[in-house]
Formats: sequence, C-alpha cells, structure tokens
Amino acid sequence: KLLEEKNLYVDIDLYTEDKEGVNVSPSGCHGFCQMGPIVRVEPQGYFYVKVKEEDAQEIVEKTVEKGEPVERLLYKSHEDGQAFMTEDSIPFYGKQSRIVLEHCGKINPENIKEYIAAGGYQALAKALQMTPEEICQVMLKAKLRGRGGAGFPAGIKWDSVRKQKSDVKYVICNGDEGDPGAFMDRSIMEGDPHRVIEGMIIAGYASGATQGYIYVRAEYPLAVRRLKKAIEQAREFGLLGKNILGSGFDFDIKINMGAGAFVCGEGSALIASIEGQRGMPKTRPPRTVEKGLFGKPTVLNNVETYANVPMIILNGADWYLSIGTETSPGTKAFALTGNIVNTGLIEVPMGTTLREVIYEIGGGIPNGKELKAVQIGGPSGGCLTKEHLDLPLDFDTLGTVGAMIGSGGMVVMDEDTCMVEVARFFMSFTQRESCGKCVPCREGTKRMLKLLEKITSGKGTEKDLELLEELAVTVKDGSLCGLGQTAPNPVLTTLKYFRDEYLAHVREKR
Ligand code: SF4
Repeated sequence: KLLEEKNLYVDIDLYTEDKEGVNVSPSGCHGFCQMGPIVRVEPQGYFYVKVKEEDAQEIVEKTVEKGEPVERLLYKSHEDGQAFMTEDSIPFYGKQSRIVLEHCGKINPENIKEYIAAGGYQALAKALQMTPEEICQVMLKAKLRGRGGAGFPAGIKWDSVRKQKSDVKYVICNGDEGDPGAFMDRSIMEGDPHRVIEGMIIAGYASGATQGYIYVRAEYPLAVRRLKKAIEQAREFGLLGKNILGSGFDFDIKINMGAGAFVCGEGSALIASIEGQRGMPKTRPPRTVEKGLFGKPTVLNNVETYANVPMIILNGADWYLSIGTETSPGTKAFALTGNIVNTGLIEVPMGTTLREVIYEIGGGIPNGKELKAVQIGGPSGGCLTKEHLDLPLDFDTLGTVGAMIGSGGMVVMDEDTCMVEVARFFMSFTQRESCGKCVPCREGTKRMLKLLEKITSGKGTEKDLELLEELAVTVKDGSLCGLGQTAPNPVLTTLKYFRDEYLAHVREKR
C-alpha cells in the first residue's frame, strides 16, 4: 500500500520487464529462520533481518528511493557486532553450497516466469533431446543417492523402470516429510516447486512413465497451494500435459494429500495410501520398480532427490561428481534446530563435518554452553556426540557409528539435555506412529516406551537397562518396515554414548 501511494509499485516481472519499477514479491524460505522475517532488496542485494511492518517506510525511503542501506536492519555478528550488507557476506550463507536451494528466497515461487528466467526448464528441454537411455546413463554416472534416507541410487531405479515392459508406468514424489525437526522438503516445495516438477517430468521421460503423483502432507498447506499453482502454470506453458515442448512426450502430475501418518513416508505404505487403501507397509519383493503403484513399475523418489535432477542434466555427471564425496556426491540440505545459535535450513556438500555445520554455519551453542549431542535423521536416526564432530556427514560414514543422515533433520542439544528423556521422546513418537501390522514393532516399541518411562521417572533398575537393550535389538531385527527397524536407533545410540546417564537414573532412586 505504501509503495502504491508513492507510485512505486508496478506489477512487473522482476526478470523480464521494466527495470525502472519496483516489484514486491513473496519468496520461499531464505533458510536463516533465526533471523526472519527477511527482506532482500535487489539490485543492491541488501539483506534485512527481523523486519517488522513498521520498518517498511524506512526501507522505501532509504533503500528503494535512495539506494542506501538501513543499517539497523542489517544482520550483525553476535560475536563482535560486525554488520553484513548482503546475503553472501553473512557467515551462515558464505560457508554453504546452496545448489538445490539456490532459488529458495530469491524467486517468486508462484510465478513460473521467474523460474524460467532463472534457468528453469532448460534441463527439461535438454533432456527431451536425449534418449531415455542416455538420461539414465547420466543419472547412473552421477550416482545421485535418494535424499529421503536410504540413499539408494536414483539412476538404478530409473533405469530399472525404463527396462520394465509395461504400457503404464508411474513416477511418485514423496513429500511426506514427517520427522520431528525436519523441514527441508517443505522449504523446497514452498520455495521452488517448479524445480521438483521439472525433475519429475525428466524422471517420467527417462523411465517411460506418463503420470506422476506428488504425495504431500496436508500439514503443509502452503506447499500444497504452491505446487497446485505451479502445476497449473506448467500446463499453461506446455510443460505438462500432452506433447510437452512439441516432443510427443505426454506427462501430467496429480497431488495426493497425506493425512499425517508418519508411516506413509515409507514407500509401500505411501503407495497403498495413493491407491485409496490404509497406509500400511508391505513385504518386498516385489520391488516398487517392478510392481509399484496400481501394480505397475514405479519410480519413487523424494522431493530433494528430484530437485537435484535439473542441475545434473544441465551440468553433466562429472560436474556433479566433483561435489561431495566419492560415494555420496552432491550436497545435502539439513534442518538445523534445537540449542544452536543459527537455526535454519542449510545446504552443504556431502562430507562436510559436523563441526563445520554446528560451529561455522550454526554459530555454535547459545549462552556459552557445551554441545552434548546431535540427533540426526529424526526418530529413525541416532545421536552423535562431541567425539563425532570431525566426522564427515555422508551416507556411509554415519552408518559406521550407528546413525544415519535420514532425510536431514538435525536437532542440536546442549549440556543441560537429559539424553534418556530424548530417547523417551523419540520412542513415544515412533510408538504412536507404529501402524501395528507386525508384532516386534507394535508390541516392542510399546514395551520399550514403558521401560523408558520407568527409567526417567526414577523407578528403573539395571535389569531394565539390559531388557531395554535386548528389546531394541529384537525390534530392529524383527520389524517389517523401516519405521520399526530404525525406531530403536535413538535408544541404542544413547545407551552406547550416554550410558552413564541411564545408570544415574536407575541408581538415584526417587
Ligand atoms: Fe507397521 Fe511398525 Fe511393522 Fe512397519 S515395522 S509394518 S510401522 S508395525
């Protein structure tokens, strides 16, 4: 309104039209959650943090009219008070490699023209000039591993579906991000929905599928709204539907909303849910690439995985392999939460150490406290401790210490945190979310939770600790799906690294 009064507001497209006007546009998450709401002013790139409504007048008068920064709104280092003018100069951003998140916070996700102006859909145009086999070869060579948790190579899935003899095939995007403390996929869907759609169309072309589904949680209404809008716009621009870009290839996308069950993030439960059945995991084989959705060959990857695809196609496999580690190429988005100075969404090359993430990007632990642990990978993950600070974060290394990257949630805990209570919290979550189909998970998680409640209330014994450990191994080994198989991880890792805290609970009776 203020801009209208000053005749400064012109409804233009930032990248394509009148450079004289001023365009005020919404964006996706900038990632620096601790400092939001954020306003970026282009072309200077001034980066204003913790902006309030009443700051608008000064931003217009100083920055928009005169091109000067509003000093008091600039980000200042909590250590020495140094002010930073632009996003790239801020240590939180400077240490990152924002490739998947490159557009988040920079383009208007509700305007396809901005995505196109920023280079969007060029990878699709390139892919449509290649054969499906050639695309699969690029993906196989790039060794892109699924970002949903398991880290299975996407190229192998795509190529397996391509080789299946079936007149109907599907592509599914798993946007059912349910880990407490995780919001990477949400930010990508909200901040750059066309990138996910572009990745899915390329997957469809490479595998021979003509229909895609995005399964997204109903708890993400903004993501759902922006994805719907993006799909409509892509159809209008001839990028979805019949004969995409005149190539003769048909592909369209539907959105399915999940109703909040954590287990529906598991592939076979998600597929059952789209089919209209109760979302419960199934035994494998058959594999999803052979008999997936409606019994047809299906490519199933998560949001971040598809968001990696356009840049791999555009820049090539060798470029992708030059980022990250040999066995885990590329970058990974992490959601940093808990006792950390800079909470937010970050993206770093695979192999970056926990120390770099916590201290250089995250700014360390607030109030001069010591780091105690980091829960990585949500309730399926495990706890890392100070002794793991120099551990490279990648799929394989984390597995060697009983943890996993998971989808990328990172909850940081300081010296005051009770690790037994943390284990109890995650167990209560997985116990509640167990679908009840198999006994080890249904009964085992319940018994484990009871034992943890007994221990945290000061009524446990050392015998209970032994029982807890025994049960954890049984649940891990005997459960049908990933939920049950990984549910004991927080208990097993805290028992391994913080056994003294468990012992203190059982020895100091209340
Ligand atoms: Fe259901 Fe748990 Fe068994 Fe998975 S492991 S099928 S969530 S009961």
